[in-house]
Amino acid sequence: MLRVGLGHDVHRLEPGRPLVVGGVAVPHDKGPVAHSDGDVLLHAITDAILGAAALGDIGTWFPDTDAEWQGADSSHFVTKAREAAAERGWSVQNLDCTVHAQRPKLKEHVPTIRTRLAELLEIDVAAVNVKAKTGEKVGPIGREEAIGADAVVLLTSD
Ligand code: MG
Repeated sequence: MLRVGLGHDVHRLEPGRPLVVGGVAVPHDKGPVAHSDGDVLLHAITDAILGAAALGDIGTWFPDTDAEWQGADSSHFVTKAREAAAERGWSVQNLDCTVHAQRPKLKEHVPTIRTRLAELLEIDVAAVNVKAKTGEKVGPIGREEAIGADAVVLLTSD
């Protein structure tokens, strides 16, 4: 059996906050405003896994009103989603994702991000694809007011 899931997330950027993308710290002069660490890519991936397994969404599992998730490492959300899917017989086959940011250039960080995502999903790095796009200098992404991410995950079961 096959199940596909879609995830999307956006965070507002403000000066002087740490930027983490796909579990990797990225040096930059701005970072996300968020309850957790604001890792937009890991949030999209969490929603893609939950979506494929028909388990709702990240906001239901990890409410931003819950002090437990204040400043949380978003790797935890991906792991919890993967484990919840696994408990129901689903395993991740592959991930495709896109990060939308005008700055910083993420290309040099993509190999590290891929490796980290493969670890979190417990799949081969060859089954993980990460793309980076600018906002073409228009809209909130292009004006560097926000960072966004999209993710698609395929789950299979025997
Ligand atoms: Mg988010």
